[in-house]
Amino acid sequence: MKKKILFNLTSTELEEFITNLGQPRFRAKQIAEWLGRGAPDFSVMKNLPEKLRNDLDSVAQTLPLHVVKKLESTDGQTTKFLLQLDDDEQIECVLMRTSYGNSVCVSSQAGCAMGCKFCASTLLGLKRNLTVNEIFAQILVAQWELRGDKLNNRPIRPNGDPNNNDVSHIVVMGTGEPLQNTQNVIGFMERANHEMGIGWRRITVSTCGIVPGIEELITWGRPINLAISLHAPNDDLRRKIMPIANKYSISDIMNAAWRFTDTHNRQLMIEYILLGDKDGNLLNATSECAAQLVEIVRGKNCMINLIPWNAVAEREFTSPSGNAVHRFQDILIKNGVHTRIRRERGTDIGSACGQLRISDKSSVAK
Ligand code: SAH
Repeated sequence: MKKKILFNLTSTELEEFITNLGQPRFRAKQIAEWLGRGAPDFSVMKNLPEKLRNDLDSVAQTLPLHVVKKLESTDGQTTKFLLQLDDDEQIECVLMRTSYGNSVCVSSQAGCAMGCKFCASTLLGLKRNLTVNEIFAQILVAQWELRGDKLNNRPIRPNGDPNNNDVSHIVVMGTGEPLQNTQNVIGFMERANHEMGIGWRRITVSTCGIVPGIEELITWGRPINLAISLHAPNDDLRRKIMPIANKYSISDIMNAAWRFTDTHNRQLMIEYILLGDKDGNLLNATSECAAQLVEIVRGKNCMINLIPWNAVAEREFTSPSGNAVHRFQDILIKNGVHTRIRRERGTDIGSACGQLRISDKSSVAK
């Protein structure tokens, strides 16, 4: 018999479940509190009698997913979790301890259908969309990692203080395309905001450019951050590395994106991987590409994150030299474009951008 996932129950259903086990009602409340803190199992629930903990363990589980593997980067700043869902699909999420707080990168789908040529997450195609609970539970796994069963007298309210043991920022940049699962991603963000106090401005959704999905975010109306994975400054080149470019043109994507940021008076984030071909020739990182990119963002409020390509064993690209990266960036800067080179985190554990995959084999060093 499948175990009941208590996290998926409403408070009334949880109460019913607990009283049916012959337990007093207040036990349901105690359990709900543990669930809200990300308790991985019942053994940690020290305020419950041991017998009840054991009984629960044989019929129920806490979260809709569990950690099957945990990898720590050598600098201790990044933790990658390989998580198993109830139907045995696997996803990953990454906790990054930064100078501005604790940021969690969550997956929105098991696998990915987008087929971007440079990315590991899409190698096995799309398995399925994640539910709101499955996305939310990833935050709780990170929260448990940060704080465990240590109670904190402060309410759960991130304050950007790096010593604060709370999740303070969320990026929906794990495996999957969030705007192919827009309503669940929205449901997830609503809960992260309401239940964990994470401000809209500390949440970022990244998309390869699904125009109707951007429209849905505009209709939803919350002032989160939007990131566009652009990666090429013209449609011809983009079609070669991102199949989605056959569906939406750069100009349609950018129009939708500017409408989003104009509505909320936000800066648009643009992700731009710098790629060389297998022989080391620059692909999208030439001076000509930089000049075209400048034209796309001219006069607009945006930040271009340059990401030297992270190695993915199955993909035949190269990462441009430091000089080439700086030459590209200089052209942007000379034209008044805000840009930075993204500092990659967790490359040694295969958790940097584009390295997340649904397998416990990390593409880089183990
Ligand atoms: N599907 C969404 C969410 C994933 S975000 C999106 O495309 O935005 C993950 C980011 O990492 C994207 O910007 C993606 O294009 C980038 N990425 C993918 N593979 C990469 C690689 N090998 N090196 C560096 N960045 C990569």
